Amino acid sequence: MPKAIILGAGLSGLSAAYHLEQDTEIYEKEKEAGGLCRSINIDDFIFDYGPHILFPKDSYTQELIKKLLDENLNFQKREAYIYHRLYDTYTRFPFQSHLYGLPVSVVKDCILGFYKALQKTEEKPRDYEEWIHWNFGEGIARHLMVPYAKKIWTVPPKEMNFEWVWNRVPRLTLEELLEGALHDTPKSFGFNKEFWYPYYGGIQALPQAFSSAIQNIHLGKEVTKISVNKKYAEFKDGQKVYYERLISTLPLPEVIKYADEVPSQVKAASEALENNSVYCVNLGIERENISPFHYVYFYEPEFLFHRISYPMNFSANTTPGSCSSVSTEISYSPHKKISRENITDRVVEDLIKAKILFPDDKIMVSDVADLKYAYIIYDKQHRKNVDLIHHFLKENSIFPCGRFGEWEYFNMDHSLNSGKITAEQINQLDSKGNL
Ligand SMILES: Cc1cc2nc3c(=O)[nH]c(=O)nc-3n(C[C@H](O)[C@H](O)[C@H](O)COP(=O)(O)OP(=O)(O)OC[C@H]3O[C@@H](n4cnc5c(N)ncnc54)[C@H](O)[C@@H]3O)c2cc1C
Repeated sequence: MPKAIILGAGLSGLSAAYHLEQDTEIYEKEKEAGGLCRSINIDDFIFDYGPHILFPKDSYTQELIKKLLDENLNFQKREAYIYHRLYDTYTRFPFQSHLYGLPVSVVKDCILGFYKALQKTEEKPRDYEEWIHWNFGEGIARHLMVPYAKKIWTVPPKEMNFEWVWNRVPRLTLEELLEGALHDTPKSFGFNKEFWYPYYGGIQALPQAFSSAIQNIHLGKEVTKISVNKKYAEFKDGQKVYYERLISTLPLPEVIKYADEVPSQVKAASEALENNSVYCVNLGIERENISPFHYVYFYEPEFLFHRISYPMNFSANTTPGSCSSVSTEISYSPHKKISRENITDRVVEDLIKAKILFPDDKIMVSDVADLKYAYIIYDKQHRKNVDLIHHFLKENSIFPCGRFGEWEYFNMDHSLNSGKITAEQINQLDSKGNL
């Protein structure tokens, strides 16, 4: 039987191992499995590496997660809001469906812009900024969507395509827009309006449950070289492991960096890939119930973070009694450099400015996580570059898998599915005796 090995024990690598019909070995550079779905426990405050909620859409993945987490799964309705410092108010998320509470002049801009966009006299959109205007109109674009896009993606939406949008940015009818502008309607929109989260252990409970169903996970094994022709992966400690097929969940630019004999145009394509990074600044606060929300979005440039969340409201078991927890996400990239120096102090200042913390609040614990690969950026060359790199890898029996192997905007369920599909491809090749 051909031997497949797996690089990376995030959800996609774990899922690939789980679905492979042959024994395999997984090599992971960190000391624990889980990748982006790990959580950190500091004095009983549990923080994810960026808050992670589950909203799987296909029934297979739903059943798989239920099987893995069993009773440790809580179903909730999302409570997400947007903070407007300029108007000293919060409105419900998503912005376009809940204009109620904003100044009349803003609501008027948004309704008129939306109405004009419905006439669709302009040509079809060519980039993400045009897509926003085409679907929502000038008012919604100017008041929220364009500033928020710039903040999270770190590049202007004009430079991005909108292939990734799918149903992530909820669209709506004129009737729904008016309904949300005239009333404080609690109607939820969006594909994650309901979600699951573990009662215990943070999101890491999921990779933990997976890991116990899988053998041969080698931790602390950082791959530093991939010999494409001789078909071996070499690790930092000098060990070489030969393979017939390699499932790689590593970020594409890393795989290309480690691989030898890479054609120059593939190298160039890899160097052109864009992603942002995220600092997660996590705080444990000695005050109860500082917020009833799950998430709050910040689109105004004066705040460092684009989103904050309250882990205590995902599960009370993430936070010691009489305390609260806040997790903030700050995106950065070569296009938007953010220094890590004093970042916690700057976050606390911003939280005080937003009246979320009081100046005399006691910060009991704090932590900064740096997610180097957070979101891939869909620049205009994204598809062309990814296809070229994938073609080279697949020709050489390397199967790119997961959020950063496929280089797509994958949620946890997509990453699980990517591992499953990759394993099934290999199972099929094996069953036909193909190398
Ligand atoms: C801030 C943030 C918030 C998110 N929130 C959600 C959410 O709410 N809901 C949701 O569904 N999804 C969310 N996601 C997406 C989710 O995290 C991913 O889809 C999923 O975790 C990706 O899994 P993966 O296995 O493909 O990649 P990863 O988790 O990145 O796994 C790759 C693994 O490879 C290892 N590795 C890297 N280099 C080497 C090397 N040289 N040698 C060996 N091993 C190596 C890494 O350590 C890692 O363990 C979020 C992502 C981010 C960034």
